[in-house]
Amino acid sequence: MKLNLDTLPFGRSALEVELTFLVEDEEGGGTGLTVVGELAVDNVDSRVLVAGVLAVSSPAVCDRCLEAFTLAYEAGVDIQVIRSKPGTPDEETPDTWILHQARGEIDLDEPLREAALLDLPIKRVCREDCLGICPTCGAERNRKDCDCPREPADPRWDGLDS
Ligand SMILES: [Zn+2]
Ligand SMILES: [Zn+2]
Repeated sequence: MKLNLDTLPFGRSALEVELTFLVEDEEGGGTGLTVVGELAVDNVDSRVLVAGVLAVSSPAVCDRCLEAFTLAYEAGVDIQVIRSKPGTPDEETPDTWILHQARGEIDLDEPLREAALLDLPIKRVCREDCLGICPTCGAERNRKDCDCPREPADPRWDGLDS
């Protein structure tokens, strides 16, 4: 996805985003990450700011019940293009992706992809109250409950769950 600095209107404009990235996993396969939404582009004196929140969706497998589902979350985008000194290396701060370019087209694919990956949830569950698979008998408890005694929740995971 390209943004042309030479034809960009001065002031604020909207940028429609609809992109799919392939994210490789450890097994050599890949998942598509679809990013959709509208970003605000502010073209002011010596810089261009591209910011907003995009909706990200991706096929995923639930951590608890192992069923396939569509993972959906939001990713914040904050890109700054500084119109100076071509050749200055791009900077990536925790919150902002900074590019240095005075003219011509800038490629937004990489910063948009990074923004989507940055907010990728660590915990992937098909729904908050997914019951998962019984560790004792292997029953899929979303479909059919079993009679195994419930283990008390392991307090060591409490911090990670929130
Ligand atoms: Zn689940
Ligand atoms: Zn069971």
